Order: sequence, then C-alpha cells, then structure tokens
Amino acid sequence: MNKRNIVLLFLFAALLGCFFQYTRIDGFLHLGAVKNLVAPQRAGLAPWQDAETVARDHYVIFYDPEDVPSMYARHNAEKMLTEQKKSFESHPLHEAAEIPQDTRGVILATGRLGAVASMASVLSYVEQGGTAVLLAHPDPREPISEETLTALGVQDVGDDVEAFGIHFLTDFVLGTKDETFEKGTIYSTMAKSVVLADDAELEAESASGVPMLWGHAYGSGHFYVYNGTERDDKTNEGFLAALISHCGEDSIYPVVGVRLFFIDDFPAPTPEGDFSKIYNETGLSTAEFYKQEWWPWMLDNAKRFGIKYTGLIIETYGDQVHGPFHELPGRAARDNVVIYGRELLKAGGELGLHGYNHQSLAPEGYNQDEHGYVPWDSEDDMVEAMQELYRYVKNLYPDYEFRVYVPPSDILSPEGYDAVKKAVPTIKIMSSLYDGLPSAKAFYQDYKRNDDGSYEIPRVTSGYVPDAIMRWSVCSLINHLGVFSHFVHPDEMFYEESADKSWADMKEGLTDFLTEMDTRYPWLTPVTASESTAYFDDYFDLDYRVVRTPEAFELHCWNHGGEVKFLVRSEKTLDHAEDCTAELVGDGVYLVRMKGDSAKLIWKGAGE
Ligand SMILES: [Zn+2]
Repeated sequence: MNKRNIVLLFLFAALLGCFFQYTRIDGFLHLGAVKNLVAPQRAGLAPWQDAETVARDHYVIFYDPEDVPSMYARHNAEKMLTEQKKSFESHPLHEAAEIPQDTRGVILATGRLGAVASMASVLSYVEQGGTAVLLAHPDPREPISEETLTALGVQDVGDDVEAFGIHFLTDFVLGTKDETFEKGTIYSTMAKSVVLADDAELEAESASGVPMLWGHAYGSGHFYVYNGTERDDKTNEGFLAALISHCGEDSIYPVVGVRLFFIDDFPAPTPEGDFSKIYNETGLSTAEFYKQEWWPWMLDNAKRFGIKYTGLIIETYGDQVHGPFHELPGRAARDNVVIYGRELLKAGGELGLHGYNHQSLAPEGYNQDEHGYVPWDSEDDMVEAMQELYRYVKNLYPDYEFRVYVPPSDILSPEGYDAVKKAVPTIKIMSSLYDGLPSAKAFYQDYKRNDDGSYEIPRVTSGYVPDAIMRWSVCSLINHLGVFSHFVHPDEMFYEESADKSWADMKEGLTDFLTEMDTRYPWLTPVTASESTAYFDDYFDLDYRVVRTPEAFELHCWNHGGEVKFLVRSEKTLDHAEDCTAELVGDGVYLVRMKGDSAKLIWKGAGE
C-alpha cells in the first residue's frame, strides 16, 4: 500500500467515525424536517348580509321540571340545538305555549303527554304539516287522550319493559340500516310495551322486538317517537340527533367530519422476553412481534382505511412517583421512540405524550388498587416527572412541538391536569374518554375548546374487537358530531381480557370494525389530534342560515377557516350542487362540503 492510499484509508475511517458519532447523537433527527407548526388561516369573518332577516331554525321544547330524566332530555336537546346554531324556547309541561306554524320542530322531552297543557296546539301544529318528536316513552300517569295516541301511531300502551340491544330497520339514524347491536355489552333502556298502529313506520326495535323508534303521519305532518328513557350518559345522542334532523323538510346541521385514531403506549419500551401466547402463535419474541407483525400491519391499516395515527409516548414502565426521575439505561427504549416515532410521522401521524411512566397522575382515590398503580403525593412530583419526559422527547425531537397528552388509563386528577400544562406548556390537547361509568373514575370530557385556547378531544371507542355498545357509540357520535375517535394499545394481546382471543382474532376484529366504519361513514376526513383542532374550530365558530324554496336549498355560512361539512336530510332528489359538493351518504341524506360563504343545492324536477 503506498503512502497516498494509507492517507485515503485514514480519511475514510475518520469520516466513518464522524458518521457513526453523528447517528449516535441522533443528528439525523435534527436534519429531517420533523416540524409541525401550522397556523390555520381564518377567513370569512363577516356574517352574511341578510343574516338578520333570515331566522335560525326554531324549536319548541316541553319538559317536566319535576322529573330527572325529562330534565336530562331537555338539557341534551338544548345543548345539541345550541351546537347546531339553532334557536329554541323551553316550556314546563303545565305552561300553555303558542306554536307558530313556521316552527321547525316540537320536542316533547317528557312522556307525560296527558299533562302537557299545549298538547292540543302540538296536535294542530303537526296536523297542518309540522313535526313533533317524543324523546321518552309515553307515560300514562295522567291518561293520554285517544286522539294523541292515534296521532303517535299507538294502539295500546302496556307495562314497563326493559329493552336490551337495538336493531335498526331503516337508515333513520344515519349509517345504521339493517344493523343490530346486541353482542357483548349492549345498549339497554326502560321502555313501554306498545302495540303500534298498522300505519306506524317502525325504524328500530330492541333485540327482543320491543318497538323502540317509529314514525307516524298525522294530517300533513309527522310524529316520531323514541320509546326509551333519557339518562345522564351519552348513549342516546345518536337518537336525539336523528330525531332533530327529521324535523321539517330539508333539515340541516353542521358536523365536524373527522376520524381520529390514537395508539396509547406507542412508542414505548418493549416488554422484554417472549410472551408464550404470542410466541406460540407467531414464533416471534415480543420485540420481533412489534417490529415484524404488529407495526407493519398497523401501517397497512392506515393506508387501507385512511387513518392518521396519534401515538403517545411513554418513557419507562416503572412505578416511581417521587423524583429525581431519570431516563432508562441503555438504548432500547430510546431507539423505539426514534425508529417507530419517525415511521409514524412519515405515515402522516403525530407524536404526543402519555407519561414519564404509566402511573396515572392522581392522588389516592382514583382506583389505583384496581390498576396496581401508586398514588402520587404531590403535584410537584407530577410536574417533575412530566418535565423529565419532556426533556427526553425534546432531546430526540428538538424541532417538534408536542401538543397532545393522553392520561395513562384515562385517569387524570385536576392536579395532574395542571401538572401536565405546567411541565409542558406546548400541550394544547387533552384526550381522555368521552363517556363511561362514574365508578371507573376516568377523566370524561366533551369535545370543547377552552377559554385558554386548549382543547378537550376525547376518545369514544377502544380495542381491537369493540363490543356492541362501542359500535353503537360510533354511530351515535357520528350522527351527533361527525366524529370517529378510537384508540388501541400495541400490547392488548397480553391483557387478561384478551386471554380468549388469538392475535388472528384481534386482527380480524379490528379489520371488521374499520371496514364497517369506512363503509358506513366514508366521508370522515382522517386527521391527527392536532390537525383535528382546525376542524373543531370551524365547527365551534361557524354560523349559517338557510333559505329553502321548492327549487333550491340556499346555504350561507361564515366564520370558518377551511372546508366545513353539513348533513342535509331531504326527500327531494339533487339535480346539482353549486359552490359546494353534495354526496348521498345515507337514505335521503347529503353530505355538503363547502369552503366559501355561500352554496346551493338545486333539486330535481323543480317547477315541473
Ligand atoms: Zn397507556
């Protein structure tokens, strides 16, 4: 080897050394454009010039001030109408009220129809073309007149009956036609056994055949009856949204229109060793299983079903609740965050935070025994742990803004909530659970933008094989807000609850669930948690008015920054859409997407 070659070889070795040093300090992360700073443009802030002269859709609500379920029903109806930017007036059942014929709908939030002082006015309003919906089963505490029962399409009201499961015969609740929710944990409610008139139109019944939802023409108008009971949970929202959307011809309401998918505990340290269950089925160690089987399959699902993942990072699985908090020794955990994290981002996903460890940020009294968790003694400890997590992730992703936090096991105390915001000021989104039992002590949220500009964006369903109540919750919330929000864990196959399921079963379960969702609601835009906030902003901020004529449906909308979505229910057939797109997404339901400030649906056969 001559002298020149030796010098070249030396230089090559030196370069190679630099290269390895650079990769070791994760230098390539700094080179990659892992940035996520977007400021949505807001436009169209000025209201439509004729907004003052065109009234909002108006509803009249009757409720029973002495009955708790009726007060829930009233509250939920008022909340939904407010969200939909509609106006309403509410009257206690003993109060006589005028019902002008241009009222969009009458909402009877009580089954005590014999005690509703304005029942004669309601009947005459419906007879002349109005719509009235009953949100609770008929309650014959005071005798209900023959005329009222006839108008409702009821021949006879019998005893209380518990209704389990629900079977939809029609698309009354959008996307549920021919669907039955009766396996596993199911929807149940108190109903009345009823005999319906021959000309009543049954929309849904319980698994054992109790009529649960029906319509009945009365004069030139319509009654719709929900034969259940209102509660303080959120499982009735789909019925309520569908009932309100059946009020009057050519009804409309805005929806957010997004699909969210969270992966909790990902990236996170991989449990070491072989879990016999996975090894026996796949022949892979846990680490290999994640790498060769689970993650490629998840990435494939993202492409196939149009999903953007929001992954939530865990630093360690220790149970430390007092500082100082340190990074795990070795590179394994850190490599997971770097390698899986980058692949997740490359697939259009987002990285958020789950915890320094998996100990829910809560003092004693939050079901710690059940989860095998250690309660935290102070908010300062929680802050310190979150600061260590933030140091850890910022070291790996220095130019990336972490905006989402998901509490471990969906449990978060007020102290924990504060601690997260104190330790990581860039957190803008808290994502826990939408609904569940109070005994679970979970952090339940409504979709909401807080005064400080942060968001509550909860998850509705979870797991690889969602049961009947979850599958109903999907339909219910999509009818209400147009939001699908699901989460899974990478390690669910190791859970006790999954003992009776193989990995193949779990794969099939999630594939079926996503196929079902995608078939019934293909119009939801895939977003990460951060991306969803622009859609929620538009939903919260937009205002609109409609002008209905036999020929056309004119829509004026303002205060939105991007494309907004509305569901329009009509018995007319669309000829064409102007300045918007309108696609048929259910029986008689159009999804309208518009970006500008006005749009039009032109009906077929108008004027013929
Ligand atoms: Zn978790």
